[in-house]
Amino acid sequence: MGGRVVIPDTQVVYSMSATHPPVASAEPGDTVVFSTQDCFSNQVRAEDDLERVSWETVNPATGPLEVRGSRPGDTLIVEILDIEVADRGLMVTLPGMGALAHLLKRQTVRFFPIREGAVIFNDRVRVPLEPMVGVIGTAPGEGEVPCGTPGSHGGNLDTRTIGVGSRVYLPVYVPGALLVLGDLHAAMGDGEVVICGVEVPGRVTVKVDLVRGRTLPSPVVETAEAWMTVASAEDLDRAVALALDHMVTFLRERLPLGLEEIGLLLSCAGHTQVSQVVDPLKTARMLIPKRMLDGYGVSF
Ligand code: CA
Ligand code: CA
Repeated sequence: MGGRVVIPDTQVVYSMSATHPPVASAEPGDTVVFSTQDCFSNQVRAEDDLERVSWETVNPATGPLEVRGSRPGDTLIVEILDIEVADRGLMVTLPGMGALAHLLKRQTVRFFPIREGAVIFNDRVRVPLEPMVGVIGTAPGEGEVPCGTPGSHGGNLDTRTIGVGSRVYLPVYVPGALLVLGDLHAAMGDGEVVICGVEVPGRVTVKVDLVRGRTLPSPVVETAEAWMTVASAEDLDRAVALALDHMVTFLRERLPLGLEEIGLLLSCAGHTQVSQVVDPLKTARMLIPKRMLDGYGVSF
């Protein structure tokens, strides 16, 4: 059994970069707990607080965690064992932002109690509690990527399938990988259309592991039911095209099938899905249900 590392929510970064020194270190196989602030750095406690938010300190992510022995060209596996969220979440509309900017002209702030497995949206609507991790990534190979932007290193993927029980496979670009995560949502719809989920602080327990010498072009998410390639680009068309190409590559490396058969399989049994349409790059995923691959026994 490995050790257990806890990173407090005071250890945050606002970008992913090789220049951020690790605040904690773990061996492959270790369990790590990340305490996380919400996407507003816990600055919005009452409706009026939104006026005073410092926008330089939004989208904090906790870390970085060094995973000892990881090197460029490896893949980091982050298995999400548990997500605990606070008992109240927050949503906002911001003029000029999100996919409904043409309709929503007013700034609004709403707080939602979270209890009994649900977000209490109002006295008639309860949204099932489906906690997920919005921001999760490694340091990019070059430069610095704000935590609000997704990319091949992960980042602000806002992908609702990154929840309890999922495994996130991330490219390693720098020694130690430098994993950060944050931006928990108690619930979020695909698209994240007004630019937020139910934003909430919390704690994420993960197990980290490494696959040495196996590179990925962008993140892969595995759940109990499916494999997903996740890709981000300037527009959704391009993000879909990238996610699809990455899934073709993923399957070609694991199935004794030609390109045409893989294309046919994805066209009859795979699913193109939208993660988010509101971040600086848009994120899409290509999904293949695991049961379609049972005859081959596909693994990472
Ligand atoms: Ca986000
Ligand atoms: Ca968020």
